[in-house]
Amino acid sequence: MKVSVFGTGYVGLVQGTVLADVGHDVICIDIDEAKVAGLKAGEIPIHEPGLAPLVLENQAAGRLRFTTNAAEGVAHGELIFLAVGTPPDEDGSADLKHVLAVARTIARYMDGPRTLVNKSTVPVGTADRVAAAVREVLQERGVDYPFDVVSNPEFLKEGAAVADCKRPDRIVIGTDSPAAEARLRELYAPFNRNHDKIVVMDIRSAELTKYAANAMLATKISFMNEIANLAERLGADVEAVRRGIGSDPRIGYHFIYPGLGYGGSCFPKDVKALIHTARSTDFSPELLLAVERRNEAQRRVLFDRINAFYGGELKGKVVALWGLAFKPNTDDMREAPSRSLMEALWAAGARVQAHDPVAMQEASRVYGERSDLVLAATPTAALEGADCLAIVTEWQTFRVPDFAQMAHLLKDRMVFDGRNLYDPALLARHGLGYSSIGRAAQD
Ligand code: NAD
Repeated sequence: MKVSVFGTGYVGLVQGTVLADVGHDVICIDIDEAKVAGLKAGEIPIHEPGLAPLVLENQAAGRLRFTTNAAEGVAHGELIFLAVGTPPDEDGSADLKHVLAVARTIARYMDGPRTLVNKSTVPVGTADRVAAAVREVLQERGVDYPFDVVSNPEFLKEGAAVADCKRPDRIVIGTDSPAAEARLRELYAPFNRNHDKIVVMDIRSAELTKYAANAMLATKISFMNEIANLAERLGADVEAVRRGIGSDPRIGYHFIYPGLGYGGSCFPKDVKALIHTARSTDFSPELLLAVERRNEAQRRVLFDRINAFYGGELKGKVVALWGLAFKPNTDDMREAPSRSLMEALWAAGARVQAHDPVAMQEASRVYGERSDLVLAATPTAALEGADCLAIVTEWQTFRVPDFAQMAHLLKDRMVFDGRNLYDPALLARHGLGYSSIGRAAQD
């Protein structure tokens, strides 16, 4: 099928590439000229396992093209995906300016029937607004072409985006048009062979499904962080509690890790947007408000501990920091816990020596040159001359470090672990102080 994808970010680029890989004819359109020029030259703008070879292969086969030319994109696709960003507005609501701009662009260049497929995460009612924007421009042009707006939310996880798109758990299609449903079933047939993963529903339910999924996951994280806080105060070990509750299949082991709170480009903004949506209906979402409050407190935990350890005297201290990305296997630093920690440390006069396996370039893009940030080439280099270590992202490569060397290099022999990577007894044997999440009495 001929497919166009507006937006070549984490969602648009991966979904467009995976669709091309099964044989669809895909054009990806973006307004970012540098990004498109890079993609045309085979440069992949994000780190996603397995993405680079897939883009190059499909580009070479002529099934995947990149352009800034919106007219060409609209002329090409019988199905047109909207996969642009929906960042939070000042009041927490989702800002729809990119989505509505793409809708108007599509209407400006349409020359026949089209199916608009919305992959961006958008509040309930957005499909109606997209349809209204399209109708308005068609009217201005004095033309009338039939079109559908389908809600097809994306559930990929950064760091596993290619695998998730190739083997989705479910494909949600929100539409009241049997013809649009049939077109999407045909598009996704190659991903729907093992068993039927397609869940068809009305548009508003599809839009809400995405927010409900992310809000549920954020709730699990905040719940576990709440239990971790309790465990610390009660002399219990949250890791034992985690295994104890995860063994109940009604609870499960997934997504119940205590840590530094949720971050990334989705959970914080989507929880905020759902709270905003709820309030717009005069409903007070008590649970979501608590989820958000717990998360905000949890994001400060590591700084508070480091600050308390140094008695509030952080000026001139050097903190080694392992992990800049908001989670492993991505270079994405949007709303990353590393950012709140570094910014608090800097405000208190400390310096940071950070290492991340893939997000160093992103860190220098975000922060530029500054005297209180050193981007260290290796985890060990980050420890050299540092007073203590803070672990922020649970990359595999941090799991079995040389503790003897760590004890030798860290002046104050202190590890603040936001991800519970180590056995406290092991660090004690190496003479290292250890403060982790939800495990009492090691600091
Ligand atoms: P992103 O910021 O990585 O990419 C968005 C892209 O859209 C950018 O390259 C930008 O230049 C481009 N763009 C903006 N306006 C445009 C226009 N008028 N025409 C063409 N391109 C335009 O965003 P993302 O992370 O891919 O997220 C996109 C949407 O998908 C958001 O609504 C997000 O909530 C949702 N989502 C994201 C994820 C994720 O893990 N990142 C997962 C599921 C859903």
